[in-house]
Amino acid sequence: MKHIFPTYQQFPMELVSGYDWHLVDNTGKDYLDFTSGIGVCSFGYSNELIQENVVSQLGKIWHTSNLYPSELQDKVAEMVAPAGMLAFFCNSGTEANEAAFKLARKYTGKAKVLAFKNGFHGRTYGSMSLTGNPDVQSGFAPLVPGIAFAAYNDPAAIDQITGDYAAVILEVVQGEGGVVAGKADWLQAVSEKCHDQGVLLIIDEVQTGIGRTGTKFAYEHFNVDPDIVTCAKALGNGLPIGAMLGKKKLAVAFGPGSHGTTFGGNKIALASAKGVLQQLTPDFLKTVQSKSQVVFKALQERVAPLGIVKAISGLGLMIGIHLNKNVKVGDVIADLQQQGLLTLAAEHNTLRLLPPLVMSEPDLLTGVQLIQAELQKQNDQVNSLVE
Ligand SMILES: *Cc1c(COP(=O)(O)O)cnc(C)c1O
Repeated sequence: MKHIFPTYQQFPMELVSGYDWHLVDNTGKDYLDFTSGIGVCSFGYSNELIQENVVSQLGKIWHTSNLYPSELQDKVAEMVAPAGMLAFFCNSGTEANEAAFKLARKYTGKAKVLAFKNGFHGRTYGSMSLTGNPDVQSGFAPLVPGIAFAAYNDPAAIDQITGDYAAVILEVVQGEGGVVAGKADWLQAVSEKCHDQGVLLIIDEVQTGIGRTGTKFAYEHFNVDPDIVTCAKALGNGLPIGAMLGKKKLAVAFGPGSHGTTFGGNKIALASAKGVLQQLTPDFLKTVQSKSQVVFKALQERVAPLGIVKAISGLGLMIGIHLNKNVKVGDVIADLQQQGLLTLAAEHNTLRLLPPLVMSEPDLLTGVQLIQAELQKQNDQVNSLVE
């Protein structure tokens, strides 16, 4: 692309259409999609209800501004927010985290926030400053002050949580950081310490939320009690929408004029989100859990034993295959692409899989089969070099 800032490393082909959980490129080649547009299109590319909702809203009105109330906004807020929480709608994950960061400072009157190494919260100044990855922050100093970092899953981090913090922010499964799940007892200890010390717990569910891990929000797998939950990616199945969800008591700090965004609560994006949430039923979530079991079982049996595979991690249909240093994850992704399977990378040489949640079990297993064959080939190559 000649007219675009080169901020993205790109593959050579353009994806021009999609159906079910497949994508088609500009040469007509068909791909099985294990990316969902980075955790976005969980209901795939031809979901009828979502399409109907969006088309119907397109024929009514697209945008009204937040100077006027919106029944649709209130309805979607009710559908997405955990019990006892209110919603603030925005347009992306980083904006949801900005809202959370601002609300936490304003509500508590404190400045300090504790975040975790290897975490990812977005690219705007606040969220980038909360992101414990030097590559993301490099060149952009000075960052937002008042942020400290602790090691994820480290018991010593609990001692760092003291009453002078406004908030702790974390992902219960670090996504970009390599699909690293929090340990249940550690997450619970963080949650308890936050509540003991009057520190707000912000859980970033931008990647893990909206069914990705087999529950509506991933924190439901753990015995934790967030004050604020942020989500975005899969919420609109491809239309830009984010939400900051927080306990009702926090509303005193977010009165009229305190925060806002022009496009937040856009009716087209909300129509799509409504379609997503209408289908995110307990029965649907059960199908995600059973698909997850099938995929993890196949990966454990067929992929985990390979010498180049260090570990397999994840929750639900958020999966990381950790490769050792003898193999480059980028080469694996390029080969799989040739064979018609789209996959992602994450930090630490991790092959990351985020298939649409609606993908059929046979197609999930077709993907696993392709990954097995590719990693087997890579494994054999490494072994032949050693010999
Ligand atoms: C993707 C992501 C973000 C940023 O979302 P954007 O919509 O790209 O701004 C924030 N947090 C997590 C955990 C993410 O995975």
